[in-house]
Amino acid sequence: MGDVQAKIAARGRSSDIKRLPKVFQKPLPHSAAARKQAYRKLADKTAASIWSSSPRYNRLAMRDLRMQRPVRFFHKATAKFTRRQHNIMVQLRTGHIGLNGHLFRIGKSLTPDCPHCEGVTETVAHFLMACPRYERERAGLQRRARRPDSVAELLTNPDAFRRVLRFVDASKRLSTIFGDEA
Ligand SMILES: [Zn+2]
Repeated sequence: MGDVQAKIAARGRSSDIKRLPKVFQKPLPHSAAARKQAYRKLADKTAASIWSSSPRYNRLAMRDLRMQRPVRFFHKATAKFTRRQHNIMVQLRTGHIGLNGHLFRIGKSLTPDCPHCEGVTETVAHFLMACPRYERERAGLQRRARRPDSVAELLTNPDAFRRVLRFVDASKRLSTIFGDEA
């Protein structure tokens, strides 16, 4: 993961780097803050492309984004989750989930449309971020109305996982698959 982040971090200020004394020309951001900043830049960029893309690209972008973190981060972040909670997070992150966009692709729904929004594919992004049906539930998911967390942030930042799970339970959209919260 270091390489990609280093490239991203270096790209923005490559001309500045040459002017620095040799000892400061390290391409890899060593401080946690620098790595975090580089990661956030990538997350924002990926989130932007998710919004403007097809469901297929959506999944690929999410997978790419996840690759920027070591695999064990997710296991660590969900270690205290129930199996049900863990499964919900995995399914949201992979897009292999009981929402019509996915169900239609695998032949288990006659339409990819959201049950509440005709003509709009029911993707994970639509469910979490946009569907007007869950506007009330979304208030607990998005704590800052002016700068809401991106879908990528919600699904890759462990600090947001509990909020995401509460949203899923409150929406009841997936309760036929996962049952209601135990
Ligand atoms: Zn909808």
